Amino acid sequence: MLSRRLMSLTPYVPGEQPRDRSYLKLNTNESPYPPSPRIEAFLRSYDISLLRLYPDPWSLSLRQTMAKKYGLTEDHIFVGNGSDEILSFVWYAFFDGQYGRLLFPQYTYSFYPVYCDYYDISYRRIPVNPDFSLNVDALIGNEGDPSCGIVFPNPNAPTGIALPLDKIRDLLERYPQDRVVVIDEAYIDFGGESAVGLISSHENLLIVRTCSKSFSLAGLRLGYAMGSPGLIRALFITKDSFNSYTVGRLTQAIGEIALEDEDWFADKIARIIEVRTFFSAALEEQNWQVLPSKANFVFARKPGETGQRVYERLKERGILVRYFNVEGIRDFVRITIGTREDMNRLLEETKSLF
Ligand SMILES: *Cc1c(COP(=O)(O)O)cnc(C)c1O
Repeated sequence: MLSRRLMSLTPYVPGEQPRDRSYLKLNTNESPYPPSPRIEAFLRSYDISLLRLYPDPWSLSLRQTMAKKYGLTEDHIFVGNGSDEILSFVWYAFFDGQYGRLLFPQYTYSFYPVYCDYYDISYRRIPVNPDFSLNVDALIGNEGDPSCGIVFPNPNAPTGIALPLDKIRDLLERYPQDRVVVIDEAYIDFGGESAVGLISSHENLLIVRTCSKSFSLAGLRLGYAMGSPGLIRALFITKDSFNSYTVGRLTQAIGEIALEDEDWFADKIARIIEVRTFFSAALEEQNWQVLPSKANFVFARKPGETGQRVYERLKERGILVRYFNVEGIRDFVRITIGTREDMNRLLEETKSLF
């Protein structure tokens, strides 16, 4: 009854979305702030008879809005039902095990090996530097062990550490131009340097973004990718061989509204960065080690505790964080930046518990 393909899959396990009681959720990097209020005004006046009709399979108006925002043309933009869906298309379209293994960092987004499993692509985890920053020399690999592509988040997850633009430029200059380099910029808006400006000079660069974090729209499911028109065409071929209508009408319209509300965006980003700075210093004050984060979360450890124990004790107190049962980062927890009140509540608990 089940395919052999299915039986060999190990799915990704998303962060808990519990229903048993109400928790302070600092475990899935959602925003603590509601999205742009313009969305509410739009929904109140929306003509629901439009929902009879299929959405634009090209999401043209949304892609034009994005193109304008990033100084590109719409043939450089692809949109999808969350960036996870786009990543799945990326694996299908660009990574071919015949040309070698896919390279990604030792500690990184745990969905990447799941896609490799799904599409039967072997991969190599590249060791990071002792301070957890990405090692560009190692990421490029060597000629004796060819690779079919590179993927990494910038800033990296779950460490929060950003790779500076000059290192990205160096990587792109040294890596074969006929292999795709994917930068997952899910957290770039919180202080990293985007590689969007390198698209025009590197046809093999694809940048993947999401509206889930910095736009407070995790419930909407909207992601986008930016790259040369050849890469974008390949993503459309992949999508249109799978589902023509991955992005609904309401999602396309709301995405446009959210992307255009620059004042809302600037205010929320500034607040999260401010709270992150305050919270990191306060945790250090309590003798935690906190990695320097450019994301909307911090990766931290209290010497003498394991990540699992910190997670369990905080959960008893009604606060959810995330730990990873992975050699080398077992002592850390990843803590999403909430409001200042959220972080003060957490700091009270960490102070008394650990
Ligand atoms: C959250 C996250 C995503 C997924 O974003 P969605 O658009 O919600 O699917 C992708 N990559 C990284 C590194 C993330 O942290």
